[in-house]
Amino acid sequence: MKKKEINASHTPLYREAGFNLQNSKRTKEAFAAELNHAHEPDDYIYSRYRNPTVVAVEKQIMELEECNWALLVETGMAAIDVAVSVFQKGAATRPWLFFHEIYGGTNSFIDTVLIKRRDLDVHRFYAKEGLYDFVELERMLAEIQPEFLYFEAVSNPMLIVADVKRIMELAKQYSARIIVDNTFGTPYLWKPLLDGADLVIHSATKYLSGHGNITAGVICGNDEELMKEAIEYRKWAGHFFSPDDAYRLGTQVKTFELRFRKHCENAMELAEYLENHPKIGEVLYPGLESHPTRKEAVALFGDKGFGGMLTFDIKGTSDEDKREKCNRFIAALEDTIPLVPTLGEVDTILLPVEPVWGAKYPLPGVIRLSVGIEKIEKLKGWIGEALDNL
Ligand SMILES: *Cc1c(COP(=O)(O)O)cnc(C)c1O
Repeated sequence: MKKKEINASHTPLYREAGFNLQNSKRTKEAFAAELNHAHEPDDYIYSRYRNPTVVAVEKQIMELEECNWALLVETGMAAIDVAVSVFQKGAATRPWLFFHEIYGGTNSFIDTVLIKRRDLDVHRFYAKEGLYDFVELERMLAEIQPEFLYFEAVSNPMLIVADVKRIMELAKQYSARIIVDNTFGTPYLWKPLLDGADLVIHSATKYLSGHGNITAGVICGNDEELMKEAIEYRKWAGHFFSPDDAYRLGTQVKTFELRFRKHCENAMELAEYLENHPKIGEVLYPGLESHPTRKEAVALFGDKGFGGMLTFDIKGTSDEDKREKCNRFIAALEDTIPLVPTLGEVDTILLPVEPVWGAKYPLPGVIRLSVGIEKIEKLKGWIGEALDNL
């Protein structure tokens, strides 16, 4: 049956697993071209290799990151797997260096996949009392001579903002490639590839999709060789982003900047409100004068904002008292600000720190807030009321 051309105004949702290659000549040419791993092939072959609906959204993300290529995968963790695996070269694999102050899942991936299963020579750079010691970082780079250095600009849940220019200068001095997980920073606040990073990954599950209803990851870069390696690895390791989800992500990405500006605005206002509230102790938000890395945040983000994440401490007379107040605070917000272990949604959600990060941060009474885009008065009202009743 001959298909009619439809004058669609959006990239259609192409759900086919395999594409119609029509004849032997075209098939041979398509498979020969495939060896080149182009980002956008002339002929699509099989959706696991490349899918036009997915590629259309990758192009939207390339615009956001201002980079030459972007590759979507099914989760943020899959993006991390692709980003680091392109540097794995059998017995010739050199050591890798990761900041320790990164997403907990990434630390688990390092322990259970990279070390336990792949037996790779992986090293960690630890923060000291929430700050980075650059003398120590340089010592490690010199001693280990890692293939790459992996870090996040904004840590979680303490929201330490790194002096990224200095980290990247040091990495380059020791010829280490640079991988940045920019999920918290987002391309709105910082575009690491413009500053010389080699690869940027995002959990697109968070701010890029922004509605808490898609799981996705993306790897971004400029280097053509790295792109080919990443496409090859994605294809044969079977990482794949569903065209249905790509279609939805494409519409959500269009409002990313609008949403993120509002996340930043609300978080800043809420941070100031909480800092002045008698029932709240410390408030960690990089935009506050009191934040230990405010200087780094201003240097990196300028006047664009300071992100949508905010961590604060409910006052109490003892650990037990704090724990109890924290539980009552969470219960009071059950219908307005639910306890949901993710972030970056348009709706405000919270997460208590102790039950999640207790081993690393045994802090009863501390709550991490992913600030949404609701009317700020509404947010202050909900939180204020929950605090009044403590
Ligand atoms: C959530 C998250 C990830 C993992 O992403 P998934 O989409 O959950 O696989 C990686 N890095 C950071 C900073 C995250 O917040």
